[in-house]
Amino acid sequence: MSATPSLSGPSGHALPSYLQADQLGPWGIYLQQVDRVIPYLGHLARWAETLKRPKRALIVDVPIELDNGTIAHFEGYRVQHNTSRGPGKGGVRFHQDVTLSEVMALSAWMSVKNAAVNVPYGGAKGGIRVDPKTLSRGELERMTRRYTSEIGIIIGPTKDIPAPDVNTNEQIMAWMMDTYSMNQGATATGVVTGKPIDLGGSLGRREATGRGVFTVGSEAARHIGMDLGQARVAVQGFGNVGSIAAKLFAQAGARVVAVQDHAGTIYQPAGLDLPALLAHAAREGTVMGFQPAETIANDSFWDVDCDILIPAALEQQITAANAGRIKARMVIEGANGPTTPQADDILQERNVLVLPDVIANAGGVTVSYFEWVQDFSSFFWSEDEINARLVRIMKEAFEGIWNVAQQHKVSLRTATFIVACQRILHARELRGLYP
Ligand code: GLU
Repeated sequence: MSATPSLSGPSGHALPSYLQADQLGPWGIYLQQVDRVIPYLGHLARWAETLKRPKRALIVDVPIELDNGTIAHFEGYRVQHNTSRGPGKGGVRFHQDVTLSEVMALSAWMSVKNAAVNVPYGGAKGGIRVDPKTLSRGELERMTRRYTSEIGIIIGPTKDIPAPDVNTNEQIMAWMMDTYSMNQGATATGVVTGKPIDLGGSLGRREATGRGVFTVGSEAARHIGMDLGQARVAVQGFGNVGSIAAKLFAQAGARVVAVQDHAGTIYQPAGLDLPALLAHAAREGTVMGFQPAETIANDSFWDVDCDILIPAALEQQITAANAGRIKARMVIEGANGPTTPQADDILQERNVLVLPDVIANAGGVTVSYFEWVQDFSSFFWSEDEINARLVRIMKEAFEGIWNVAQQHKVSLRTATFIVACQRILHARELRGLYP
């Protein structure tokens, strides 16, 4: 297996500095993942360099007036990694650690994810380097609106459609939709997904990512003969993805034994009372302080006795330093990029099945696709219809990927990349080069 990311072009010329900037970070990880699939791409490998460069990347200055009268500047990004199969699509995150190379990687993972579930989109992602907890509601609104206006030159319902991601939500999507629409002079609900229901949002969107995590987790459990009714689950992250996934696993009879969030880690081997924990977290803003769970050190989370581990927070959480300690038989990546390639290899050697982000958390963008279709047709579906279609798409995609993994004797991540990259590069080849 390749150990170093490819950082030079086909003729050996050094790539532009922005592509080399973060060799060990998410973009470097993504490049390694691409290198691993090239041997399986057949004649399409000729086009593989396409996957290693974002089609378009925009850096914007986002100045706002703070409540105290001073002017603050934030750096924002929107990257369109690939649009061969359709418009760009992917979320926007507000986080103090956001960088261009991180957004590049996240946009590339969206290309792979959208192709893996076969929704007609390319991949894109955006972000602002800011800790939104330090802003008032008014400051957050002004920042969101100015950012939307700045990236307005490349987004649009048929060009690139943002959505929620880390620290962004329905209200932020409402402000983005309104700002874009005001600039256009017409209400354009299809410019973002993950909107409030009353503004063209879709039923089931809020729960969709967690539901997708649960769906592929259940399918994989069936394949390896794991009884969900007996399974113990540990979840990192209790936001939109982790909390819903935990709830659905608990409803299926599993015991959720540990939860870690931004404030700390709680542990209860007999199983946490999920409805009560959800109410506690909604009230307190954290799982910490939930009774009768005990508090354990954050690092001890990785040693917890469990069958299923769900990283549903940020990138690069499972590394060479902790992969050897994980007790679970199955890791379901609710977050984007939580496992480093080295950790991937350690887990594979130890026979831990990893359900990769690019299929495991694709439920969110799948229902985003339903929302976009509903907005275009101005005809809205029932929640049952949405959930049934979501489960069907996720199961079919997972089944196809499982078979490719068996056929080539590769990990599910490499199998997902094989399926997705073939779709992307086949579209690339059919379209041809212009001019
Ligand atoms: N931010 C989510 C993701 O990483 C959803 C993106 C979308 O719905 O466009 O998949």
